[in-house]
Amino acid sequence: MNQGSGYKHMSEEQDSQALTMTCDTCGAVFPISPEDLVVTCSYCGESYDVEGKKIPDHQMLPSKDINEIRANFEEFLKRNRAESGNIVELRANYIPYWVVPFESDTHYYGVKTSTVTRYKTVTYKDSEGNTKTKRVPYTVTVYRDEEGDFHRSGRENVIARKHTAFYGFDHFQKGLFLDNIQPFDFNGVKEHNAEFINAEVDAGESQQNAYGRIENHNRSIAAGKVSKLVRCDSNINLQYPIYVHAPLWQARYKYQGKIYKMSASGDTGTVLKGEIPLSFARRMMNLIIGLAIMFTGIILGEWLGFQILVAGDDKGYIMIIVGLVMMALSFFFTRTAFKMQLEKSEKIKKPKKRKKNKEDN
Ligand SMILES: [Zn+2]
Repeated sequence: MNQGSGYKHMSEEQDSQALTMTCDTCGAVFPISPEDLVVTCSYCGESYDVEGKKIPDHQMLPSKDINEIRANFEEFLKRNRAESGNIVELRANYIPYWVVPFESDTHYYGVKTSTVTRYKTVTYKDSEGNTKTKRVPYTVTVYRDEEGDFHRSGRENVIARKHTAFYGFDHFQKGLFLDNIQPFDFNGVKEHNAEFINAEVDAGESQQNAYGRIENHNRSIAAGKVSKLVRCDSNINLQYPIYVHAPLWQARYKYQGKIYKMSASGDTGTVLKGEIPLSFARRMMNLIIGLAIMFTGIILGEWLGFQILVAGDDKGYIMIIVGLVMMALSFFFTRTAFKMQLEKSEKIKKPKKRKKNKEDN
């Protein structure tokens, strides 16, 4: 029932020029968007470029099972006091990436500065007027040329989309490593309400992006080895990139008649982000706290403080300032009182940098 539905909004936009493509493998005709450069057949899972050539070595990042994802979403609702929320939609969007394997050799040249301590003899007069000498240390900066080479190999991941409006995508991208990818298995995921997002960046453009990033990274490594980098030349070799789909789960849940969104990473199963309804009681509590702080601020600073100041005591200034700060602070509470929902995102645990790029000297 979900098949192909993802393209609908695209073809609605371009109603006048609805494009379709016929799958060579299964014969299905499916709509595509003019921006799509690599498309995946939503019936059999085969991927093609715009000329209809099959994409070799299509891979995917495996997803946690739908039941585990659902359980994690429910756990997230529970933690955020919305356990009565009812999940009404749950699906995996497979986002396209190009993984570009590379080798690079870098030669750099720069200047390294260091300081050395020297001594000079100064003459001075002591308290009795006698001329004396003493040795005084001082530092001088010395410069020396520094050059070297390093080799680096690894894989650069390039997102194959120019527009991504998926809820929670920014979080997804930050925690994503594409190192445990495996061959694409359409049958293994199609029953999980999966949708394969097409690429708007082709293999060649992904290589260009990767090239620029590898070069910049090499330059920053070289810059770290000298005080001032003068020259840095990289010889970069790129392999044909691997096309990879990575799962970003999206859920909608109903809470007291309203729909809220959540998203989770399929790779780790963790909830990335979610909208949390604010109950009436919680909003009122915030309003009461906010108002209490505000009135305390007014009384303390603007009334009492002013009185003290008029009476000639400078402490009044301090009280007026404290009062103003409290009034500003109360805003954070009263503001929440007028919001219907909050957004909670999970702390992204910086994945232990699985050493994915090798660097050797
Ligand atoms: Zn097909």
